[in-house]
Amino acid sequence: MNYTTRTMASNKRIALVAHDHKKADLLAWATKKAEQLKLHHLFATGTTGTLLSKEVGLPVKCLLSGPMGGDQQLGALIAEGEIDVMIFFWDPLNAVPHDPDVKALLRLAAVWNIPCATNKSSANFLMNSEFMNNPCEIEIPDYAGYLAERTQ
Ligand code: PGA
Repeated sequence: MNYTTRTMASNKRIALVAHDHKKADLLAWATKKAEQLKLHHLFATGTTGTLLSKEVGLPVKCLLSGPMGGDQQLGALIAEGEIDVMIFFWDPLNAVPHDPDVKALLRLAAVWNIPCATNKSSANFLMNSEFMNNPCEIEIPDYAGYLAERTQ
């Protein structure tokens, strides 16, 4: 695979997701970070986003609920370069019915090399990064080159 780069603007498109046993943690974390989060464009799976909007007052674009396809919607947005950062408080101690979707979402975040926090401390590191409020470049797969190679 060859790589190219894409530039992220200073206002990031941030995906927020929390599994059920992690929703209280994400809401508490987002409450503390609300002023910082408001500088960005927020996306979330349905339940997480509705709670963030109702309880923290954040403007969030809500997708479907995770088990109903929301994780896959986020994965598609990542693949299309429409999400810059993901904060995903997934639950390592309880099974979820949509485990294949969770794996697919984490996989696409890795494929497209977006900054991805899977717990509170890594989310704090991301929020404190100089890149969060400044333009930055990330390396991504060279899709055009990939396709050309497969179709020559
Ligand atoms: P939810 O989905 O925000 O609708 O609960 C999250 C998930 O489980 O992926």
